[in-house]
Amino acid sequence: MALPCDGCGQTASAEHIARRLQRLEWATRYRPVHINTLLLGAFSPQEERDFLYAPGEEFHGEAALLLDALGISTAGKTADAVHAEFQRAGFFLTHVLECPLGKNAGQGAEAAALLAQRLQPVATRIRRSLKPKRVVLISQALGPILEKVLALELGCPVVLDNGKLFEFDGPRRENTSARLREALARPAGN
Ligand SMILES: [Zn+2]
Repeated sequence: MALPCDGCGQTASAEHIARRLQRLEWATRYRPVHINTLLLGAFSPQEERDFLYAPGEEFHGEAALLLDALGISTAGKTADAVHAEFQRAGFFLTHVLECPLGKNAGQGAEAAALLAQRLQPVATRIRRSLKPKRVVLISQALGPILEKVLALELGCPVVLDNGKLFEFDGPRRENTSARLREALARPAGN
């Protein structure tokens, strides 16, 4: 019998669980003891190479955008060195759904509903286990449920860009990234 996955709430096959555990293991390796800034996305990326903590030579998709926005250069560095640098800076990345969205889960309203369903367990995980000093939302897919996210008890502030998400995968990402780095340069909690 298929049970819901405890990382995403979707019905889980053995393969799904194996993939979740693999990503969890990769991420845990570079989890800072004290998380300064928690970067919170919506769904773990579909492609393994887009997942920040996946081992490999290059960073693609979300991982590449994120490193670029944070000003962490990857040129001439091994993935391990980049991961270590990200960790030393006190960054940790996680997603509301710790697994990719299932192929038949649909888009739009259905995805937003799945996200909304996971908000309470995620808030508990952030408050009790991850305990960051601040949270930055990195995914446009969280836009439609921003009010719900802001209403959660996270135990720390959510850093916003003039009341909105940092759209660093949007068209004006250079400016957005600059504002993000500026916001993160301030001590957490202010
Ligand atoms: Zn899952």
